[in-house]
Amino acid sequence: MTAAVILGACPHDCPDTCGTVTEVEDGRAVAFYGQVDHEITQGWLCGKVRPYLEHVYHPERLMYPLRRVGPKGSGLWQRITWEEAAAEISDRWKGIIEDLGAEAILPYSYSGTLGLVQMTVSSARFWNRLGASQLQRSICGAKIYSLSSTSCT
Ligand code: SF4
Repeated sequence: MTAAVILGACPHDCPDTCGTVTEVEDGRAVAFYGQVDHEITQGWLCGKVRPYLEHVYHPERLMYPLRRVGPKGSGLWQRITWEEAAAEISDRWKGIIEDLGAEAILPYSYSGTLGLVQMTVSSARFWNRLGASQLQRSICGAKIYSLSSTSCT
């Protein structure tokens, strides 16, 4: 069977937005590489993204929530459902807010993938509404623009 060739772009929040090529056979990606004829990125993918298929199909890829059931570092985990995970997080946050206030919760994240949806739209509104502490949100590099550029209510 001939692989379908799908052109895309790297989803990471990075100004390069490297052009990608994914070859798909029978619903499974079989090859992933930089788009050589892309005018700007010319086939480049950084070391973080080049082995994407190894991440996607790795047998130990985390596919569902796990609850730690032993001391940190023990590697003892119990599989739980998404509903259980959401309920547990919600209960713990409600307890923290009741005891200490919402600012006792510090969202620790940066952009990850999906750019605007993850970084500055959904999560920012959620954390602002909750009243959580604010972070400069620049974990892996200093920002050159002001905090107000990512604030929304
Ligand atoms: S492949 Fe690497 S360098 Fe290119 S956009 Fe993605 S994260 Fe940036």
